[in-house]
Amino acid sequence: IGAIINIEDITQRKRLEKIRSDFVANVTHELKTPLTSISGFVETLKGNENIDIAVRNRFLNIIDMETDRLRNLIDDILTLSFIENNENKKGESFTMVNVWDVYKEVFDMISPFAQKKSIQISERFENKEITILSNPDYIKQLLLNLIDNAVKYTPEEGNVIVTVEEDEQHIHIKVKDSGIGIPQKDIPRIFERFYRVEKARSRRIGGTGLGLAIVKHIVLSLNGKIHVESKVNEGSEFIIDIEKPQ
Ligand code: ADP
Repeated sequence: IGAIINIEDITQRKRLEKIRSDFVANVTHELKTPLTSISGFVETLKGNENIDIAVRNRFLNIIDMETDRLRNLIDDILTLSFIENNENKKGESFTMVNVWDVYKEVFDMISPFAQKKSIQISERFENKEITILSNPDYIKQLLLNLIDNAVKYTPEEGNVIVTVEEDEQHIHIKVKDSGIGIPQKDIPRIFERFYRVEKARSRRIGGTGLGLAIVKHIVLSLNGKIHVESKVNEGSEFIIDIEKPQ
């Protein structure tokens, strides 16, 4: 029996090593893409002193956008590695976090983007006293990533509904949108790092491809479960159930 366990351990270790090396390869690629673009435009600007002002501004805008992209990527990679490193010592930084207070903060951050697209964000809180035992940053990041996606992937005039409820054993958080939806075949993969439905479309919309991987790891840290219901051109709903400490 010892031998069998050893073989299983080795297979498991190999699998983890592969995931890790794939991740490093992906990160390297994702970081290099904006860097290559930035240095290309900087070189062009340096080599052309008489460049037309409109062209110059266009290049500077691209440099600006690619710098933001790089910053977001680094932030998301650091967040993900923080959550993973703390998965075994969870509890240490956990306090009772009031979900309504965090939601209000997140709403204020996202509402300018929603307003730009005339998207209405509404909330249905069963009560405003619901708390979750968590690192406060986790609940903020979780709501931020899900509501940000809901707004990003919903066309103008759409709507987003955030529901928070509790029963004896669980807290339920639901983020529902009237957006573009997710094809059934992609649903099992959207929580993977860097997986994006239709890369080209997602790149245009912006994002790192790490948002849902972060959400998944937060939910795991909170002993929770997450699932998605979605229909193309109708909308998506992300549903999280978190066990209450007994
Ligand atoms: P991204 O930075 O690309 O938004 P995420 O990890 O947050 O990365 O999401 C992964 C992919 O899942 C997205 O690229 C998008 O294709 C899809 N997705 C996520 N949320 C939604 C949503 N609310 N509606 C439609 N598609 C979504």
